[in-house]
Amino acid sequence: MQGCPFCEPLVNNSCFLQKGGFRAVYNLAPILPGHALVVPVKHIVSLNELNDSELAEFVVFSRLVTKVLVQAFGAEGFDWSLQDGAPAGQTVQHLHLHIVPRKPADLPQGNDWYTLIHENEPKMLDSSSREKLSRNEMDRMIALLKNAAILFL
Ligand SMILES: [Zn+2]
Repeated sequence: MQGCPFCEPLVNNSCFLQKGGFRAVYNLAPILPGHALVVPVKHIVSLNELNDSELAEFVVFSRLVTKVLVQAFGAEGFDWSLQDGAPAGQTVQHLHLHIVPRKPADLPQGNDWYTLIHENEPKMLDSSSREKLSRNEMDRMIALLKNAAILFL
């Protein structure tokens, strides 16, 4: 879909794993190291648009991506977050699951990640008025994660 950041060809530069109808992309503005997203390849807005087998594929793939992130960042846990619909804080109208690998004391208050995810939503939209990873940093991250993913394939 035109104007959708997860449908743009540029999203390929941030993709480190793809399987079936889903892919894993690194967040342009991560709230913590390793903050990535799982998105369907086709433009889908809501989780409710997936049929049962697509939903199973989504969850199984997301767990695989989580294992890759936990391994690559030496994490000890992870958070998943999915905002579905505007009242829930969904800013990008393309289904996406936030995955944040976690370490002890990585945030001053462990629950801060949830506030940060909500503040992060609009930052995922392409805009020049925000901090985001440089092309170099992104390339380095994608190479690291593709390498980490080999262990799980
Ligand atoms: Zn889209």
